[in-house]
Amino acid sequence: MPVSKSEPVAIIGAGVFGLATALQLAQDGYTDVSVFEKDDQVPPRHSAAFDINKIVRPEYQDPWYTELTIKAIEAWKSPLYAPYYHETGFLHLVSGTAPQQAADTRDSFVKTIRHHPRFESILKNINSPEDIKQVAWQLDGEFPGWNGYFNPLAGYAHSADALRGVYKAAAARGVKFFLGDQGDVAQLVYDQNHQATGVMTRSGRYHPAKVTVVAAGAAAATLVPEVGQQVVAKSWSLGHVRLTDEETSMLRGIPVTYARDLGFYFEPDPKTNLLKICPMGGGYINTDPKTGVSLPPSLADSDDVLPPDDERRMRRLLRESLPALADRPFVEKKLCWFADTADSDFIIDYVPNTGSSVVVCSGDSGHLFKMFPIAGQWVHQLLQGDGQSEARWRWKQKSDSKWAGGDVSWRLGQTKEFAEIKVPKAKL
Ligand SMILES: Cc1cc2nc3c(=O)[nH]c(=O)nc-3n(C[C@H](O)[C@H](O)[C@H](O)COP(=O)(O)OP(=O)(O)OC[C@H]3O[C@@H](n4cnc5c(N)ncnc54)[C@H](O)[C@@H]3O)c2cc1C
Repeated sequence: MPVSKSEPVAIIGAGVFGLATALQLAQDGYTDVSVFEKDDQVPPRHSAAFDINKIVRPEYQDPWYTELTIKAIEAWKSPLYAPYYHETGFLHLVSGTAPQQAADTRDSFVKTIRHHPRFESILKNINSPEDIKQVAWQLDGEFPGWNGYFNPLAGYAHSADALRGVYKAAAARGVKFFLGDQGDVAQLVYDQNHQATGVMTRSGRYHPAKVTVVAAGAAAATLVPEVGQQVVAKSWSLGHVRLTDEETSMLRGIPVTYARDLGFYFEPDPKTNLLKICPMGGGYINTDPKTGVSLPPSLADSDDVLPPDDERRMRRLLRESLPALADRPFVEKKLCWFADTADSDFIIDYVPNTGSSVVVCSGDSGHLFKMFPIAGQWVHQLLQGDGQSEARWRWKQKSDSKWAGGDVSWRLGQTKEFAEIKVPKAKL
C-alpha cells in the first residue's frame, strides 16, 4: 500500500541511499521525513562515499545497469549535482602481465557500450603508450604491454562534497536530521504483530514512523538481523600521494586511469593536492565466527591500513604509468567498507513479515555511488507501489542461490578475512 505523504518516514543512514531518498521524498511532497545518522557530521565518516572521488562510468556487464548509468550521468549534469561531476573520461586498460580474467572482464564491460549509439563513434582503442599519450599527454610511463580503450563520456564525482550538497538541499526542503548520539539508532521498535512503529536512538529517544528505511550500508544487519548473509560487509583499501601545487596543476584533467589487474587513480584534488589510488583485489571481510555475518569494524581499526600486497600493486601502477610518483609515501590510507551481495545487485525492498513497515536499501556492492542522483527515485517508487517490481533488487530468500556472499567475476583476487591483515595498533 502506498505510504501517505503526511505520515512520518524514518531513514537510517545519511550515505548515498539515505540522502538520495530523503531529498526525493521531500521533493515529492512528503512532509515528515527524518534522517538518523550516527556520525555527528554529513558527509559521515562511516559512509563508503566519505572520500574525494568515485568513478562514474556506464560500462557494465549487465546492459540494464548501463542504461541506468546513462540516466544518472544526465542527472549529474543538472544544477544540484553538476558541481561535483567531472567528465575527464575513463581509460580502461590491463597491464602487460594481466591474467586473462582481467582482459575478459574489461571486454565484457565495453561490450555493453561498443555498439551503443552514444558511444560507438567516441570510443578509442588503446594499444600503445602513444595511444595513451594522445588522450592524456601527462601520463609519461612506459606502459609495457598495456592495452584497452578510452571512453570520454565518463569520469568521476567528488563524493564527500556531493553528499554535503544533497544534505543541504534536503535540509532546505524541510527534512529533519538527527546526528551523532541523537541519530545513532540502537534498534527498530516493533509492535506485537512485528510491524515497526519507529526507531529508538542510543540517546534513548523514540521516534515514531509509519515506514522505516534502513539505509545503513554495510551495517544493515546490525539493525535488521534478517538481512543475515545476503549482505556481506567488505572493504577495499585506498591511499593517496600528496602533490605539489605544480604537479596538481600539471595533472589537471587526466582521465580516471584504470588497469584492471593493478588498480586505478583519479585527477588530483585541487583543494588538497591529493591524488587518490585504489588497488584492485578481492577485498577484506570481517566475519563473526558465531553468526557467519560480516560487519564493519570500528573506524579506528580501518584507519591507516594499507595491506602490503595492495601497496605493491599501487606502486607498480604508478611506476608503469606515472613513474615520478612511484616511490612517494602513501598518506591518508584506509579500508573503506561497503555492502556486498553475491550477485552484485542492490537490495531495495520491504523486509518480509513486517507488514511493509521496514525497507532495506543496501547491498550497494561497491558500485552505487554513480547512481546518487537517481537512487532516491527507486525508493520512492517502492513506497508508492505494491512491492519491488525489479527482480534484481528484491530481498533474497535463504533458499535462493543468490543469498550468501561470493566472488563476482569482475573483482579479481581472493577475499581475505580482516583478522588476517589486522596489525595491532601501538598503545601510547
Ligand atoms: C574503496 C571504495 C571505492 C568505491 N568506488 C566506487 C566507484 O568508483 N563508483 C561507484 O559508483 N561506487 C563506488 N563505491 C561504492 C559506493 O561508495 C557505495 O556504493 C555507496 O557509498 C553506498 O551507499 P549506502 O548509502 O548504501 O551506504 P553508505 O554510503 O556507507 O552509508 C551508510 C550510512 O549509514 C550510517 N549508519 C550505519 N549504522 C547506523 C545506525 N545504527 N544509526 C545511524 N546511522 C547509521 C553510516 O554512518 C553511514 O553514513 C566504492 C566503495 C568503496 C569502499
